[in-house]
Amino acid sequence: MCPFRSAASDSGPPSNGFELNAAYQRSILATVPDAMIVIDDHGAILSFSAAAERMFGYSERELAGQNVHVLMPNPDRDAHDRYMARYMETGEARIIGIGRVTTARRRDGSNFPIELAIADAQTPQGRVFTGFIRDLTERQRTERRLNDLQLELTHISRISAIGSLASALAHELNQPLTAIANYMEGARDLLENPDAEALAIIREALDEAAAQSLRAGQIVRRLRDFISRGDSEKHIESLRKLITEASALALTGTGPAMIDVDIRLDPTADSVLVDRIQIQQVLLNLIRNAVEAMHRSPRRRIDIRSVRDGDMVTIIVADSGPGLTPDAARHLFEPFHTSKEQGMGLGLSISRTIIEAHGGRIWAEPADIGGAAFHFTLARAGSNEAQ
Ligand code: ADP
Repeated sequence: MCPFRSAASDSGPPSNGFELNAAYQRSILATVPDAMIVIDDHGAILSFSAAAERMFGYSERELAGQNVHVLMPNPDRDAHDRYMARYMETGEARIIGIGRVTTARRRDGSNFPIELAIADAQTPQGRVFTGFIRDLTERQRTERRLNDLQLELTHISRISAIGSLASALAHELNQPLTAIANYMEGARDLLENPDAEALAIIREALDEAAAQSLRAGQIVRRLRDFISRGDSEKHIESLRKLITEASALALTGTGPAMIDVDIRLDPTADSVLVDRIQIQQVLLNLIRNAVEAMHRSPRRRIDIRSVRDGDMVTIIVADSGPGLTPDAARHLFEPFHTSKEQGMGLGLSISRTIIEAHGGRIWAEPADIGGAAFHFTLARAGSNEAQ
């Protein structure tokens, strides 16, 4: 959420007899996807939006008139009345008009991270505070899903995956589009009565709608980039170049924990006739899987080797993770078999399609450094290698 500024908060008591129109307020509360909670100057809940009901697990009826601190874990819960009293006395804002990340408490007692922005306003009925709350667990999950989707876009073979991608993308696109529609409808309704508070909420809604449209645009652009890469094209490529680039790409964003990557390639088997992007997708899949498998390993090491074998060259990606589980080993290379919460189980099946389309083989063995070692073969190109 962008920092919310209340037009009413810095202008002192209103001179124009601002009136909070209950019907419009209700309509906004029902449509805005962020939770909105309105309280009076003693912290008593006046209004609790439908999104807030879903987020906290309380109904508006249950909470009406209750102190808002029931929605907070300690130490905020005990201190909230004091915070409010201090603000009313001194006007010293720690959060009002600023916004911050904090923790909230659901009805079942579980805590979750939120982004909270508060606006205050004078109404003829007294001073009210409106909290806009975004559940960050949800956002983190969405970001993770988008990241995964982006990763899959680089992983997935152009030929086989467009169908499953299209449905995933339709799902991803639906979310920003619904949010935009909600923000727009809410803003339109508020325009009927454009007082200071309504305008502030409208501005907020328009900002959010703009951010959501950008997000939808990014999703579409990713799909277009993916599709426009065209059909498979084979050229003579340097394995060393393919492997170093793919491992750099696969290791970006893997977090601060050190991974020891040891690349040793046979210089007499460097040239291969391949579709560069497809083979890099295979390497990316294997290295990413290795990184993910070592998530909990105390020692994190990836060995990448190439070994000449007649007209072929074997490439090996080995890790020091826990190795394949019996179940993973049984279904390896089958689509949609995954042991990961966020996995699609497509990486290895697509890798096999690509390697077989190149006339090679792919298989897994236990690695001598403890985890799994994936091997695949490619045909060597030409006789211009150093012998
Ligand atoms: P995803 O990564 O989406 O699960 P993959 O087809 O790439 O799909 O992998 C399928 C499954 O194979 C993984 O979920 C995991 O259980 C197993 N696997 C793949 N690579 C490794 C590895 N290096 N170590 C242990 N298990 C692995």
